[in-house]
Amino acid sequence: MKPVIALVGRPNVGKSTLFNRLTKSRDAIVADFAGLTRDRHYGQGRQGKYEYIVIDTGGFEPDAASGIYHEMAKQTQQAVAEADVVLFIVDARAGLSAQDHDIANYLRRLGKRCVLVANKAEGMREGAQLSEFYELGLGEVHPVSAAHGQGIRSLIEFALEPL
Ligand code: GDP
Ligand code: MG
Repeated sequence: MKPVIALVGRPNVGKSTLFNRLTKSRDAIVADFAGLTRDRHYGQGRQGKYEYIVIDTGGFEPDAASGIYHEMAKQTQQAVAEADVVLFIVDARAGLSAQDHDIANYLRRLGKRCVLVANKAEGMREGAQLSEFYELGLGEVHPVSAAHGQGIRSLIEFALEPL
């Protein structure tokens, strides 16, 4: 079975753009993998020698009580449960948000392989702008540009190599 990658992060960080980049398709449907729900959010792809299944997620639903977006959506929880590795996407341009911290807290408790990805990093110098993401306590930050296809190969190699 191919490794399963789940894309997790707050709305608008570029999860679906990365999904399309990783699957090179707008509607790559994976219907025939045992144990995985039939869903348009599943796709398959390959980078170099690495083949994988990837799950896009809608992100987080607003918490009814507080009105802020910190409740893990059921769909996202399911995707994370099915995944061998979670790519936690943050927005390199927008910087850290409270919601990123909430998601990081959730992911750290899971004890699942989790890779921190700073998207929209095209044309950015590494260092200053990305250093704040180390606060999330998820280790190394991987800058990519899903829109421009930068950093994708090395991200996948890093994410899947130990599996
Ligand atoms: P999602 O809500 O996390 O699925 O985010 P989307 O994939 O829908 O992207 C949200 C917005 O960010 C869209 O306007 C995208 O075009 C934009 N976006 C996605 N990836 C990149 C990127 O690498 N660089 C830049 N500058 N914008 C991006
Ligand atoms: Mg999306």
